Amino acid sequence: MEETQTDSCIICGQRHQKGILILAAFLCEDCELEIVGTDVHDVKYPYFVHQMGQVLYKKNA
Ligand SMILES: [Zn+2]
Repeated sequence: MEETQTDSCIICGQRHQKGILILAAFLCEDCELEIVGTDVHDVKYPYFVHQMGQVLYKKNA
């Protein structure tokens, strides 16, 4: 594994120094908070699920 300090976020695609790793995917603090604060009925929610689903798919492929 490479260093994860400046990984690209799976949601916004920007590089951040702070964030969390979900499986092998990096999620920045901003997006983490946004997802946590997003209602399942929000229009953005399917996008988040889709992005994270891609990560799961890649890992299992
Ligand atoms: Zn982000």
